[in-house]
Amino acid sequence: MVSDVIASAEIKKVDPVFGQLSFNDHEQVVFCQDKDTGLKAIIGIHNTVLGPALGGTRMWNYASEWEALNDVLRLSRGMTYKSAITGLNLGGGKAVIIGDARTQKTPELMRRFGEFVHSLSGKYITAEDVGMETSDMDTVREVTPFVTGISEDKGGAGNPSPITAYGVFMGMKAAARYQFGDDSLEDKKVLVQGVGHVGETLVEYLTNEGARVFISDINEARLEALRLKYNAIILESNQVYNADVDIYAPCALGATLNDDTIGLLKAKIVAGAANNQLADELRHGQMLKDRGIAYAPDFLINAGGIINVYAELEGYGKHEIMRKTENIFNTTLDIFAHSENNGCTTHQSALRIAQERIDNRKMEAKK
Ligand code: NAD
Repeated sequence: MVSDVIASAEIKKVDPVFGQLSFNDHEQVVFCQDKDTGLKAIIGIHNTVLGPALGGTRMWNYASEWEALNDVLRLSRGMTYKSAITGLNLGGGKAVIIGDARTQKTPELMRRFGEFVHSLSGKYITAEDVGMETSDMDTVREVTPFVTGISEDKGGAGNPSPITAYGVFMGMKAAARYQFGDDSLEDKKVLVQGVGHVGETLVEYLTNEGARVFISDINEARLEALRLKYNAIILESNQVYNADVDIYAPCALGATLNDDTIGLLKAKIVAGAANNQLADELRHGQMLKDRGIAYAPDFLINAGGIINVYAELEGYGKHEIMRKTENIFNTTLDIFAHSENNGCTTHQSALRIAQERIDNRKMEAKK
């Protein structure tokens, strides 16, 4: 009797699963646990209309299981739209492993995780994400074929970051064509925030094009190395958002476009690699539009990485990877045109076009 009362009170308070803020028509969520290896993982399968749900595995020391669930729900949804807008026959999925990748990741844990992936019979295909290395994917490959991002000597497509950087560069050039009438970035002042795997290659492309490159990072050693190598100008972190630049490229963290930063921006273009740059997709997308800042949607222009791993499934080579990634230029131009013609933000345009592709495929399948 008492427990009945508690149960009905709790049911009124929150819907613990489908009532989650980030639950957004997800097809399937799989909770995986193994006491022997300490594995606690969640696999989120958002949508498989266009193909198997492909997305990386993130290992992170989440503050709570709710945080991990929220992350996997958001990230897997993002993958659906990223693949759809890029024209790939893939659905959206992602996995998270709860724990510290530096101290808790073992080959046994990764193999056990691989067995859970295998149990989904290819509906979800994994890859690398934060906290994962190519060698971890090689370990997963020992127990399942449903994994990409494995070593080149094992038939993998190799490091995706340079391809991601190339896609971002293409998206940035398209934004320049739209905003400045010319896709050349020569003499343009470009700020790259976060000069890690993707950021550094982007700096290289920009330098080769003759842009004036500004960099910011929390890693002092990397900043100094890039200053020397590319003659880039270092900005302190408090100079980032109001920097006098033409283009701002977020390549570190998400949510850097928010209530506090957008009003400060002098840049006329935002185009970078970081996932989930808009703290609030609708509101902050609109704020950028209202300020006349051309925003190249993150999930569109950072799709080079997924194009790279898709090659492992489809068996195409480097040439085709680069061709598909180069096409981000055309898709970005289409998105700017769609946004202007329909009076919506570029983020909304990209989502709508991606959703249309999914809906059309669903209709075809029903015929
Ligand atoms: P990375 O970890 O190699 O680099 C991130 C860099 O950002 C590091 O140098 C780090 O020191 C710096 N950084 C962290 N916090 C910062 C802060 N507060 N201010 C300034 N710099 C800070 O990561 P990466 O692989 O280069 O990826 C960069 C971004 O692009 C991430 O958001 C990632 O999710 C996204 N992304 C990467 C790929 C890929 O292929 N690697 C694909 C799609 C999206």
